[in-house]
Amino acid sequence: MNVYGLIGNPVSQSLSPPMHEAGYRVLELDARYVTFEPEKDAGPAAVQASQTLGIDGLNVTIPFKQAVLSVVEPDEQAARVGAVNTIDLGTDPPTGHNTDVDGAIRALEHFDAPIESARTVVLGAGGAGRAISVGLHDAGAEVTVANRTVKRAQELASEFHGIEAAELDDVPQLIEEADLLVNATSVGMGEDVSPVDPNVLHSDLFVMDAVYHPLETRLLKDAKAAGSTTVDGGWMLLYQGVAAFERWLDVEVPIDAMNEALRAQL
Ligand code: NAP
Repeated sequence: MNVYGLIGNPVSQSLSPPMHEAGYRVLELDARYVTFEPEKDAGPAAVQASQTLGIDGLNVTIPFKQAVLSVVEPDEQAARVGAVNTIDLGTDPPTGHNTDVDGAIRALEHFDAPIESARTVVLGAGGAGRAISVGLHDAGAEVTVANRTVKRAQELASEFHGIEAAELDDVPQLIEEADLLVNATSVGMGEDVSPVDPNVLHSDLFVMDAVYHPLETRLLKDAKAAGSTTVDGGWMLLYQGVAAFERWLDVEVPIDAMNEALRAQL
């Protein structure tokens, strides 16, 4: 049997086990996907223990995405983003990858969103904001990152030639001229609030929210009302999982079955 898993703290609400196991069922694989909740300072030790136990692959979530860099060989993308969310334990040392980057881009592509040359505003310069900004920048978008703590946006901009930094106060003006808006802050997670004034949203805008609980966030409701095209956070969640599944198993992934299983939970 192959065993894959997720380390995070907390991890009990994770939607990854049903999503991945739906894929294993369709492919009739003898495999399981389990969650582990190490102490908050024990991310690297958990990776090493998983390798000792013969676990095949791990996803990594908050608060371990940066800490595990000390025990894996990151690929170029994970190194550039500075965070790992997928580990292949079949090699020594294990290799680290960041499928949030692919997940965001594939979610946007699924809906034919404008990417290349798109004037893009990314809200948030945390883990998700960095991954999404780097992915969009690499795909040819013109990315401006606005973050509450503007220093974090400025650090990102200084690392990637072409990414601009902004303050949250600049966001209304930026959105007026934007083709694409991505929320990568945690604002709206479990609460009916939006990071953006609804009056600045418009019908020429494509809006993706990384937040997936609820699926239809206040931002997405406001965006729909303004005539924008919207993509909910379930799509990025799906495609980051699909990219991890592909990496571990090197098979054609049953995306529809994984999506159905995910949406049944959401
Ligand atoms: P993180 O590293 O903790 O970053 C949180 C971000 O939200 C930071 O930019 C933070 O700004 C900002 N923020 C928090 N509270 C705020 C507020 N009241 N006003 C303005 N900005 C605020 O978290 P993360 O990993 O990037 O995750 C961010 C969100 O994306 C979460 O809701 C997470 O569930 C979601 N996510 C979704 C997927 C997916 O596949 N759909 C993948 C990854 C993450 P400061 O820097 O100023 O603190």
